[in-house]
Amino acid sequence: MSEETAADRLHDVQERVARVLQHIGRPADSARLIAVSKTFDAAAIEPVIAAGQREFGENRVQEAMGKWPALRQRHADIRLHLIGPLQSNKAREAVELFDAIHTIDRPKIAEAVGAEMRRLGKPLDLFVQVNTGEEPQKAGVVLAEVDGFVARCREEWQLPIKGLMCIPPIEQPPSPHFALLAKMAARNGLPWLSMGMSGDFEQALMVGSTHVRVGSAIFGHR
Ligand SMILES: *Cc1c(COP(=O)(O)O)cnc(C)c1O
Repeated sequence: MSEETAADRLHDVQERVARVLQHIGRPADSARLIAVSKTFDAAAIEPVIAAGQREFGENRVQEAMGKWPALRQRHADIRLHLIGPLQSNKAREAVELFDAIHTIDRPKIAEAVGAEMRRLGKPLDLFVQVNTGEEPQKAGVVLAEVDGFVARCREEWQLPIKGLMCIPPIEQPPSPHFALLAKMAARNGLPWLSMGMSGDFEQALMVGSTHVRVGSAIFGHR
């Protein structure tokens, strides 16, 4: 067995990100790497922070609340991204803990997050999640409603949406979904794209991803 550590794997992923960006002529700072630490405890996360990583993703508010406040006391410059579904009764805790939410996908959540951001005076980076594969079991706004939902977020709930996020169906090639998301973002004047995971972040970067969410390629299998 190799003795490869999470820090080694982080450096490998960072290099792969840099290589794709250079290959297609994008600036090195035009995409951010979010290390997805869900299911991993503080002891597993510490070495990745020590290796220089500062942006992390979690998919459950409750789980994140159990480990990040303490980690953050030791590392003040961490940025936390919520990349999993949010219930409106967790909106307050989510806005308090996270710096970005990638999963705004229905009026109740948009309204609750907007209200909490104003109450706390804390502007978060927000993405609308799109169900590009129109999968019934998956979260996200359906294609026909994306433009209308983004407009309502801006006008009705004063939410400064910055981008779109998607998780392509696992059984399909991801690139068409990434390209579709990029097109919808451009059409709505949204500069950011949260797309690409361990298995497909290079393809996502090729079509404009600005935020790749990489878990197992850094932390190992869950
Ligand atoms: C778990 C998760 C990831 C990371 O997945 P890997 O395949 O381990 O890189 C990315 N995005 C979301 C929304 C996730 O839930």
